Amino acid sequence: MAQMFPSIGERKPDMQVFTIEDCPSCGTKTKRAFKIGDYVYKEGGECPKCHAKTLITMVYAEQIQVK
Ligand SMILES: [Zn+2]
Repeated sequence: MAQMFPSIGERKPDMQVFTIEDCPSCGTKTKRAFKIGDYVYKEGGECPKCHAKTLITMVYAEQIQVK
């Protein structure tokens, strides 16, 4: 007989995806939350320092500490 158990203790780790934008002009790296459509070597936003176009150099997931 099948029984339904509540999934206690089976919590998924909370992952947050980040995008790193690298400015080729002044070398500033900007970390921001990942947006759908982001991928490595895609053109990023504007550099906050020199206003050049940045390039996405890294997309990665980080585990969030939940208290
Ligand atoms: Zn820059």
